[in-house]
Amino acid sequence: MDRIVIIGAGLAGSLLAINLAKRGETVDVYESRGDMRAGNAARGRSINMALSDRGIAALREVGMDEYMLDAAIPMHGRMIHTPGGDTILLPYSGRKGEYINSISRSGLNAALMTEAEKYAGVSIHFNEQLTGCDPESGELDFASGSTLKSELVFAADGAGSAVRQALDANVADFVSRSEFLEHGYKELVIPPGEDGSFLIEKNALHIWPRHKFMMIALPNLDGSFTCTLFLAHDTAEDSDEPSFSKLIDEAKLIAFFEREFADALPLMPTLAEDFFANPTGMLGTVHCSPWHANGRVLLLGDAAHAMVPFYGQGMNCAFEDVRTINALLSERPASVSGWVDWRSIFAAFERERMPNAAAIQSMAIENFYEMRDKVADPVFQRKRALETHLEQTYDDYFSKYSMVTFREDVPYSEAKRRGNLQDELLMRLCSEAAESSEIDAEAAIASVRRL
Ligand SMILES: Cc1cc2nc3c(=O)[nH]c(=O)nc-3n(C[C@H](O)[C@H](O)[C@H](O)COP(=O)(O)OP(=O)(O)OC[C@H]3O[C@@H](n4cnc5c(N)ncnc54)[C@H](O)[C@@H]3O)c2cc1C
Repeated sequence: MDRIVIIGAGLAGSLLAINLAKRGETVDVYESRGDMRAGNAARGRSINMALSDRGIAALREVGMDEYMLDAAIPMHGRMIHTPGGDTILLPYSGRKGEYINSISRSGLNAALMTEAEKYAGVSIHFNEQLTGCDPESGELDFASGSTLKSELVFAADGAGSAVRQALDANVADFVSRSEFLEHGYKELVIPPGEDGSFLIEKNALHIWPRHKFMMIALPNLDGSFTCTLFLAHDTAEDSDEPSFSKLIDEAKLIAFFEREFADALPLMPTLAEDFFANPTGMLGTVHCSPWHANGRVLLLGDAAHAMVPFYGQGMNCAFEDVRTINALLSERPASVSGWVDWRSIFAAFERERMPNAAAIQSMAIENFYEMRDKVADPVFQRKRALETHLEQTYDDYFSKYSMVTFREDVPYSEAKRRGNLQDELLMRLCSEAAESSEIDAEAAIASVRRL
C-alpha cells in the first residue's frame, strides 16, 4: 500500500482523494488555501460553472451526481442578447434531457472535500502551499517550512501548478508553455429581484456577443446571476476598441455599459463597485509534456492542461482525468502484496488523455470566437436551427457541441474530428439558403452520414 500525496484540494484533487480512498489507499492532501467551508472562498473567481455529462459521469462513480444536480440550475440553451435589446434562445440540443447545469464552484468543492474526509484514510492539510518538489527523491517543500518525502505525488494544483514548475526546473526532457489570450475576464453580478426572483430567464446561459468582446451570465440558486465580462486587457489609445485599461473610472464604465449592454445595466446596481473591487483574471492554455516523472509524480487537471473557459469543459475534463485514473486502476489491479504499477498507469494515462486534452483545449479557443462573433451571425443561427431539427429527427445526429457536452462515451478528439467535418458541411448548406426551412434535412443527414 502506498502513502499517496495529492497537491491541491480543488475540484480534481478532492475527487481523486475520494476515488483513491474508496480503493483503500491512504491519502494526504495539501492545500495552499484555508478551508473554504469556514468562509474563505476567493472573490471574483468563477463563482458558478457549467457542469455537463463528463463531469456528471465522474460524480456518479462516487455516488454524488444526484446530490450535486439537486444544487444546480439546468440551462437549456444560450439566450442571446442583441445590441438592440432583443433576446433569442438557441437550444443546446434538439433532444430532451440534454442541457448543462449551473453549479456553485465553492459548493461543489466543499461537498467533495466533505465526502473525501468521510474516509478514515484521507487527511486534508490546509494552509500548506507547496513550494518545491524533487521528482528524483520525492522530497516536497512547503511555504510553512515543513518538508516530507512521498513515493507518489498527484499534482492537482491548478493552472499555475508549482509541481509543474518544479518539473520544468528539474526534469531534463520536460517542456511547458502557457499561451494567454489578449482578453481577460471580470466577474460582475445581477442580483435577485426583491422577492428572490430571477430578473432574466432562469434556465439559460445568457450571452451578450459584441464581436471583439462579450458578457455572459449564469444563474445562481438565490436568484442572482454571475456575469463574466470578457474583454481585451489593452487596446491602442487612438482606437475605438474598448479594453479593461480604458475603463478607468465609473463614468467611462457606465458609458460603456449604456452603449453595449443597455438591457443588463439597469439590473446591475453594484456594477461599479464590483468592477473596481474584483480582480481581472487571465485566460490561458497550458501545454506541457510529459505529464509524469520517475513513476512518482503525475500532473492532472488544470496543472497538466489548463484551458480557456469557453467550452465550459475545464472542470469536466479534470473530472474525466480522475475517471481515467480510476479505470486504469481497475484494469491493472494491485498485486497480492498491494504493489501497484504506477509507472505504467501514469504512462497509459498520458497516452489516453494528452490527445483528448489537446482537442478540447483547441475547441475551447475556437468556441471563444464562436460565442463572441458567430452566435449573432444569421448563417450560424440557421445552422443551429438545422442542427436542432436534425437532433430532434434523427437519433444518430449529434452536433459537435452535443458530442463534447452530452456524450461522455465520445472522446474529445473524436468529437473534434467528426464535429469539424459536420460543421463545415452544414455551414455551407446554411450559407447557400436564406432560411433554415429551405434546407432539405433528409439530404443533409445523408451527407452527414457519408462523412
Ligand atoms: C472564468 C472561468 C470560468 C470557468 N468555467 C468553467 C465551466 O463553466 N465549466 C468547467 O467545466 N470549467 C470551467 N472553468 C475551468 C475550471 O475552473 C478548471 O478547469 C478547474 O477548476 C480545474 O480543476 P483543478 O482541480 O485542476 O484546479 P483548481 O480547481 O484550480 O484547483 C487547484 C487547487 O490547488 C490549490 N493549489 C494551488 N497551488 C498550490 C500549491 N502550490 N500548493 C498547494 N495547493 C495549491 C488551489 O488553491 C486549488 O484549491 C472555468 C475557469 C475560469 C477561469
